[in-house]
Amino acid sequence: MTQAPSRYILHIAVPRPLRTLFSYSYANVSAPLLGTRVLIPLGKQSAVGLVIRAEIAPPETADSPFTLKPVEALLDTTPLPDAHLLELLHWAARYYHHPVGEVIFSALPVALRKPKPLSSRLQKLLGRYEAPTLAPIERNHLQLTDEQQQCLHSIEQWNLQAPLRPILLHGITGSGKTEIYLRLIAPLFAAGKQVLVIVPEIGLTPQLLLRFAHFFGDTPMACLHSALSDGERMKAWLQARSGEARIIIGTRSAIFTPAPNLALIVIDEEHDASLKQQEGFRYHARDLAIKRAQMLNIPIVMGTATPSLESLYNADTARFHYVRLNQRPGTTRKPDLQIQDTRPFELQAGLTPHSLQAIRTTLARGEQVMVFLNRRGFAPALYCPSCGWQASCQHCSVKMTWHARRNKLVCHHCGAEQATPLRCPQCQNPQLTTQGQGTERLELALQTHFPAAVVVRIDRDSTSRKGELEAKLATVRSNDPLILVGTQMLAKGHDFPNLTLVIILDIDQSLLSTDYRALERLGQLLIQVAGRAGRADKAGRVILQTSQPDHPMLHQLVGHGYTPFARQLLEDRKRWHFPPFGYQALIRASSTASMEKALQFLEQISQLLIVTDGADIQRLGPIPALLEKRANRYRAQLLLGSQHRAALHAALLQLLNPSVKLPGRSGIRWSVDVDPIDFS
Ligand code: ADP
Ligand code: ZN
Ligand code: ZN
Repeated sequence: MTQAPSRYILHIAVPRPLRTLFSYSYANVSAPLLGTRVLIPLGKQSAVGLVIRAEIAPPETADSPFTLKPVEALLDTTPLPDAHLLELLHWAARYYHHPVGEVIFSALPVALRKPKPLSSRLQKLLGRYEAPTLAPIERNHLQLTDEQQQCLHSIEQWNLQAPLRPILLHGITGSGKTEIYLRLIAPLFAAGKQVLVIVPEIGLTPQLLLRFAHFFGDTPMACLHSALSDGERMKAWLQARSGEARIIIGTRSAIFTPAPNLALIVIDEEHDASLKQQEGFRYHARDLAIKRAQMLNIPIVMGTATPSLESLYNADTARFHYVRLNQRPGTTRKPDLQIQDTRPFELQAGLTPHSLQAIRTTLARGEQVMVFLNRRGFAPALYCPSCGWQASCQHCSVKMTWHARRNKLVCHHCGAEQATPLRCPQCQNPQLTTQGQGTERLELALQTHFPAAVVVRIDRDSTSRKGELEAKLATVRSNDPLILVGTQMLAKGHDFPNLTLVIILDIDQSLLSTDYRALERLGQLLIQVAGRAGRADKAGRVILQTSQPDHPMLHQLVGHGYTPFARQLLEDRKRWHFPPFGYQALIRASSTASMEKALQFLEQISQLLIVTDGADIQRLGPIPALLEKRANRYRAQLLLGSQHRAALHAALLQLLNPSVKLPGRSGIRWSVDVDPIDFS
């Protein structure tokens, strides 16, 4: 007996900036599975959509004829995101107030965003894979130190308790956190489970991948990061989706990887700003990971040498378990950190005589030096000494950086490039001068000062070609004496055993910044960079050059360490009801016409919020953004704060309600950033 076909109403997410699902009709015996893709008519085109909900349609009557457009075709037979992942994506769309279709489709590999069925080859990979269990693999493992053993034991015990709580593993750089992750993963791995490891930047952590590969042998491991081709990403995604890949390592977007047997999430460098997506769908991978672990009732471990203030506070208030690693295996020596006042000296190559002497003696001992400067290019400014003209970007409110090797002016904000003018465009003076220094100039100056030394520069410019970074890292790892010059690309993940001196330049701007998160970031960066010095059996030394040697927070950091420094910052945050003692959302608006337009728009939004909400929301602004103009758009922002998360979210919901008439928006682009961390 064949069943009569029924008619369904399908609620479908489409990859458009719309805050609602779309309804279509579908006539068949059974509805398509939730999480499968369908082809739908949208406007004049066919578009891809993902089935979110299905319900049986009420029978068609004369009064209520069936008016929904029908689905054109089914694209998949197997759901792409599983039910759990769909729930997470929904939650994320609500929490970040972002259009649900965009959230869902941005979580899918590009190949799946196209209105095409999967090839039969890929279709096969989507089938469920039954992971074999393995005997616990015997390899030449390191003997854990007592401290590591205790740490591992605590974590294992906590993970047996209900309800589970996220674990913050606060271990100094080189204390062996990665080793702890490996031991936590091993039994799950053997049992056929899956583990998700989120890292800040995979390209910069080749050693981490090697260690996983070494520890787990020929494990099916899926790596998801921005350097993959669409095809590679698709394959890795499907391997995770089927359960075949036991270990999934990826950057922030990997948090959306489906994994049917997920049993543990590890976040490495939980404090790192790159875990936050800064454009479009602005989510924080750490926070979503915590949510995902909670939904699945599985453990989550977050490791860092420099916890974010949020996580530290969560540990203080017992929302997180907290465990520390204070020692480096094999050595008890911590790097010796000193502040060097630059003011009394005439600098050479940006370095004080003291720093230059330290470099000389380190090289003479056959050891390596790193000079850290977080600014690429030759010089951050090109100007005319006779009339004061400065090379600035036509599209942004910033100066252009001069890149000597390419002899170009480059805007580091919009990427615009310009030929270097031969004479001043204003007064025709042929003698233009540079001001300040970037890594390119530092490299040249160090090479001139130490002609016999090898100088290796690592920054985005010097490693843009494939294989360049690896080649440079290999040179450094040869352990021959040399000077390494670099930006924050060097701050983490690298283990250079013969590096014993780190010199940090030009931190004054961050010390004096008005951004309330700048000091936290600076502290984290300094500790991370300092952590490169002195591994293995050699003592490390760190020199911090600054013209603000009396800055109290710098003293706190250098004199007492990261934790007291962070606690002090937390005190300040508490006073101002800033996160984690309050909740924030940043509304950004930009206009091609003028700053005034952008400010006006936000002012109207602010008024709307006053009407729709009581006194629970504090407003800061609207004010012009720090970077007032970028890529031809004038940028303004309105910061909303509240001590009650629910009040803030209710206000945002009202604002985004489609029935609310927003003020004149022509030429305005605007966005909502929940839990913002970047105020530029
Ligand atoms: P972290 O992740 O905390 O920076 P790692 O796990 O990378 O630290 O460890 C730093 C270095 O110390 C690595 O070279 C690692 O192989 C080594 N190491 C870690 N644990 C031990 C141990 N128990 N015995 C000897 N060496 C260890
Ligand atoms: Zn001039
Ligand atoms: Zn620009």
